[in-house]
This record gives sequence, structure tokens and C-alpha cells, in this order.
Amino acid sequence: MENRILYYSTNRNLDNISGIVPFKGKVTFREALLQGQAPDEGLYMPDRIPRISCEDVILLKDKPYAEAAMLVTGAFLDSEIDAGILRKIIEDSYPFTIPLQKVFDSKYIMRLDRGPTASFKDFAARMMARLMGHFRDRDKRLNVLVATSGDTGSAVGDAFKGVEGVDVNILYPRDEVSERQKRQLDTIGGNVRSLSIDGKFDDCQDLVKQAFSDPSLEYLNFTSANSINFGRILPQMVYYFYAYAQLCRKEEGIVVSVPSGNFGNALGCEYARRMGLPVKRLIMPTNENDEFPRFLKKGVYERLSPSLACLSNAMNVGHPSNLARFFELYGGTVDRTGKVRIYPDIEAIRKNIYSVSISDEETKKCIKKTYERYGVILEPHGAVGWRGLEVYLEQCGDFPLCVSLETAHPAKFPDEIVELLGITPEVPDSMKGIDERKGKPLELPADYKIFKEYLTDNLKPEV
Ligand SMILES: *Cc1c(COP(=O)(O)O)cnc(C)c1O
Repeated sequence: MENRILYYSTNRNLDNISGIVPFKGKVTFREALLQGQAPDEGLYMPDRIPRISCEDVILLKDKPYAEAAMLVTGAFLDSEIDAGILRKIIEDSYPFTIPLQKVFDSKYIMRLDRGPTASFKDFAARMMARLMGHFRDRDKRLNVLVATSGDTGSAVGDAFKGVEGVDVNILYPRDEVSERQKRQLDTIGGNVRSLSIDGKFDDCQDLVKQAFSDPSLEYLNFTSANSINFGRILPQMVYYFYAYAQLCRKEEGIVVSVPSGNFGNALGCEYARRMGLPVKRLIMPTNENDEFPRFLKKGVYERLSPSLACLSNAMNVGHPSNLARFFELYGGTVDRTGKVRIYPDIEAIRKNIYSVSISDEETKKCIKKTYERYGVILEPHGAVGWRGLEVYLEQCGDFPLCVSLETAHPAKFPDEIVELLGITPEVPDSMKGIDERKGKPLELPADYKIFKEYLTDNLKPEV
């Protein structure tokens, strides 16, 4: 299999830096998926990006989403997994619709909010969970630990529900999660357990990190499911191809706007372009956490610390974890702490990517205006995306085909929508009855000794 794609670490060239032992090897997709992160704490990158021909993309028109997913993920996985098994994983992952809603002319909103937890994270989490279920060691149980401040935990928890041989423990900060989010996390049940921690998000993350690096717990075969896992990036390449195939009329380019936090979603689009999709410009609007648009303007990168609390709360990120992958693709290196070791080719980035910071004030205005003018309901994340597209169009002139992503369902933000639009957004089927569902988390203090006791008493290493 000389054509097999292997995965290397973004930190592989960081010699002579204290605290880092660069990992110079390459691993298979399976290893990258099950490890999550490289041993040097870098992120795994594919050593080759497969190409997809324009004819193959056009053939996806009017086909089910699963066909697009087969074509795109199959290009990475064809020497890793049997095509029949991959198809089953994909069909199992995507039993929901992906509406492409026309706003005006050839400007569209792609709604990625129809999955079981009503955020776009369902796309990546569901496929990654099933891939892990497939690739895990048959004689060992895989124990997933996730720290969450909201959306990620419910998407990951729901995605692993019923996946054989995998158990999931989700840690969340008791007082930092909304009632509806709590209910979403506490009522998954089965192989998914929620732990309500008396502490902050950082405490939850610390508990998970300590468990991962505790040699006496190695027998529990831990893995993480956070957004740096390449297994979560791969499924996020698919919907860009899908949208293009459904909407393009002739050979034309597309402008895509992706509301961005940790940059995993936008990275999917960057890869899609490198695979051959004619993306003329990738727009990556942020909320008031503006470290990236400032970098594009000034050419100097400075992380924001602490990050700012904005309306689009899933994008409150002061140093995006996937920035390391963007830098790598453009010849640079930035480490986990946000320190730039090698600057990337900024002119090349500016040519392909546009970014702008959208304030909470502009976000609210956009929600109101888009509803009044077009009858389109956006929630805060999608509004950052749409407003970013508008700013781009005002500055750079019109462009034939544009798609802006809506990454969460408006019903997840009922208070903002009622306040701004005076209407209550309709709750999608997946969220119906959530306020009546019953479930009880295990309550734990933010104390590693007690957490470890819980793990050793309750988690199993064997199937
Ligand atoms: C996670 C999330 C984002 C940000 O996506 P990234 O891949 O981290 O850039 C945007 N919107 C919603 C609703 C999210 O949950």
C-alpha cells in the first residue's frame, strides 16, 4: 500500500525547545484516531491530500449526503477500511437532512443543525464515534473522557450512545452549563455517564488531563474525543462538497463563510479546497475574540488571554487549537501555548482566507435584520457567519455563489431569539421533550484523588 496516507505531527521540527521532544515518525489513520494527539502534543496531519475531480463532485448533485461522504472520506480511508463497512458507518451517522436555504440571489445558508443535539458538531462526533467503534482493539474496552462547557459534550455523548465496546464519561462544570444543556448531558444514559463537577471548566479539563497522564490508569485505555482529533476533521470536509454539488450551475467558484472558534470546521473547508473544490475565498468570521483577524491584518499573532465571553459562546476561544494545522498548511509552526515558532506565508493565507471580527452588537443587529428582510432565522453563531459574509461582499465586491453556515439550531438560544425577534423558534424533533427527560449526574468535587477513585471503581478495561 505505497499510496497509503500517513499522519505526522505539527511539532516534528521543534528541536531544541525545552519541554518538547519532537515526534518524527508517522502513524496510520487508526493510530491517529485512537491516540487523538501526537506524543509531542502536536496535531496529526495527513502527509498527502487526495484529489477529487470536478466531474466526480458534479455527479453528487441530487444524491443523498451519504454519497458525498463516501467520496470524500473514502479518498482518505480507502486503504484503511472496507468500503461496505465505511458505507454502513456513514449511513448510520447521517439520518438527518442538510437544508440549503436561499436567502437572496445565489446567497445561501447551509443548516448543519438537524442532528440529534442540534449543532454541527453532530457531523464530526457521530462519524468519529463509529470509526472508533470499528478501529478499537477487539479485546479492550475504550474509555472516552471528555471535559465540556456545553455543545461538545452533548454531541460526543450522544454520538457514542450504544457504540459497542466504548464507554464515555463527560465532565461538566456544575454552575457554568445551562439547564437545558445539563438535561441534554444527564439523560443520554446507557454507556454514557455525566459527571457534574463542583468547579470550573478548567477544573474539568485538568481532571481529564491528569487521568490521561497517570501511568497507574493506563490499563483503562483512555482516549479523548476533542476537536484536535483528525477523526473529527475528516467528516467536516464533506458538506462543502455536498453544498457545491447541489448549488453550482456551471463551472464556477464558491465563497464559503464559516463562523469560527477552534477552527476545526473552517479547516474542513481548507482541506476541501486543497482536494480540488473551487473555493474562491474561505471567510472565517470570529466574534469579539479577534486574534485571527488581527493576525491577518498585522502579520503578528498574539493569542487572547483570557478569552472574551460573547453571545456566540461556542466560539469564545482566545487561541484556536486548529490554528496549528492552518499554520502548518502554510509553512509555519505555532505551538499549543500560542507561541509562533515559524511564521507561515501570510500573503498566501490572505489570498485564500478572509476574516473579520463581529461584535455582539452587530450579531444582534444581523439576527434582527436577516429576519425582517428575508424571513430567515439565525442564532448567534450563524449570524456571525452571515454578517462576516456581508462585510466581505461589501469590501470585495459581489460573487456568484456564496454559502454561509448555520452551526446551531435557533431553538438552542430561545432567550436571544425572543428578545430580538419577538418569536419563539420552533423546537426541532430531536430537542422535543428534553425539558421533561429525567436523568441524574454523579456529583463530584474537583479533586483528582476522588475522581481517580471513581474511575478505578467504575471503569472497566475489558469488553
Ligand atoms: C463549536 C461551534 C462553533 C465553532 O466551530 P470550530 O470548529 O471550533 O471553529 C461554531 N458554532 C457552534 C454552534 C459550535 O458549537
